Amino acid sequence: MQELHESARTVAVVGAGPSGLAVARELERAGHRVTVLEEQDTVAGKCRSVHVDGRAYDLGGHICTNRYERTAQLLSELDVETERTTRYRVLDAEGKAVRQSMAFLRDDALQRYRALREREFPRIAEPGLAHSARALAAPVAEWLAEHGLRSMADSFGTGYTAAGYGHLDEGIPALYFVKYVEMTGLLDPGPELLGHSGDFTVVGGFGTLWRRVAEELKDLRCGVRVISIERHADGVRVHTDAGPVEADDLVLAVTPDRVLPVLDATDEERDLAGRIRGNAYHTTLATASGLPGDAFYFLAGHTASRATAGHCVSYHHRYPGSDVRTFYSYGRPEDVTALLREDVEALGGRLTEVHLQRAWAFMPYFGGADLRDRALDRLDALQGRNRTYYVGGLPAFELVECAVAHAQDLARRHFPPAQGTLTRQDHRPATIEEEPLT
Ligand SMILES: Cc1cc2nc3c(=O)[nH]c(=O)nc-3n(C[C@H](O)[C@H](O)[C@H](O)COP(=O)(O)OP(=O)(O)OC[C@H]3O[C@@H](n4cnc5c(N)ncnc54)[C@H](O)[C@@H]3O)c2cc1C
Repeated sequence: MQELHESARTVAVVGAGPSGLAVARELERAGHRVTVLEEQDTVAGKCRSVHVDGRAYDLGGHICTNRYERTAQLLSELDVETERTTRYRVLDAEGKAVRQSMAFLRDDALQRYRALREREFPRIAEPGLAHSARALAAPVAEWLAEHGLRSMADSFGTGYTAAGYGHLDEGIPALYFVKYVEMTGLLDPGPELLGHSGDFTVVGGFGTLWRRVAEELKDLRCGVRVISIERHADGVRVHTDAGPVEADDLVLAVTPDRVLPVLDATDEERDLAGRIRGNAYHTTLATASGLPGDAFYFLAGHTASRATAGHCVSYHHRYPGSDVRTFYSYGRPEDVTALLREDVEALGGRLTEVHLQRAWAFMPYFGGADLRDRALDRLDALQGRNRTYYVGGLPAFELVECAVAHAQDLARRHFPPAQGTLTRQDHRPATIEEEPLT
């Protein structure tokens, strides 16, 4: 059993996406007092759901694989109902269904990959990225060629690019591709989670999970703008448009570059924030008729090379009785709708109404040279300095399970349970509204 040696701490958490909510839940369970500050009117960050005609649509994160043990635990603790995800299909440039090559899982490349993993990045499946960063700093295409693993790209590249992580010919470090592949659960199939042998999601939208987490927190403030953050030897003060919040410690559950303008940043924080990169990735929720349906479609003609960036890379048709679909694209926000219209027509369909469009600051990452220069180790070394902790996609990788596991581990490592406060306390549940659309 863990020793109880800390008195209760007060913690301000900035950001109420999966990372911020997971860290806040963990801290409260350990007896600490937490205030969560979220700039949007509702929680869930890049895992928000909306409703159209009474049906739930996920705008961002919602697919869980058999690697999602922490997420499954959370779903089970909060009694959230889950279901199988829609099947996947790949369409070629002409819109014809093609088989995804899974040769990598069958030929000797998988054995070679396993040996390489054991030798060079044995901790890749553990929470966080820093442990494997220097071994996998090379651009992914180069790394795959160097190790004779091109079939890994054939099997996973389409899904990786369709999911927003960039094109394989873009020079993004192999670290991110390898972490993604590991998290698909296809390399080493694990046990069933929540009774599902394959991928699963939340009935009625993934946002439900985060609303349930939020409802149990004691002090969650949405629609709050952080004006400035000051850190002193004896505590942290967060100035917001709804008044100041004082705390012993600060958790930044937002990408550091987003919070830099309001932070009394050190030179090290400024330097690291300046190196963060990301992908412009968009979700368009729209009605389109005449398209292949009843699946999550990857559009191979637009995932193969960055030359087609801007065109739609995937779309999800979740409900057979409806023509509303979620479409995903890279590129400039102003081009997304026009290119989508073209793409839908090329597939034989017609885009009739755009309900909503979201531009995400997706996948915060460091380039290869920065990984080799230990940027992720430097970020780890900042944990706890200046009373500040960092969670989220940058240290963890841009997937829900990675964000949750990293955030929970950080809370457990740095905030031992407070003496005498381990039992759950009475609390006033926050009221979290679902985002209505129509
Ligand atoms: C289109 C799309 C599809 C995805 N699909 C999947 C999937 O199927 N499976 C999967 O596992 N993952 C998926 N992801 C990734 C997943 O959504 C993210 O990894 C996850 O949401 C990261 O959680 P986070 O809390 O670190 O960040 P976020 O979800 O980005 O949350 C950050 C929060 O901080 C708030 N914030 C930002 N700045 C401030 C500020 N200054 N003050 C206060 N609050 C602030 C934001 O409003 C937000 O609520 C997808 C993402 C997208 C965009």
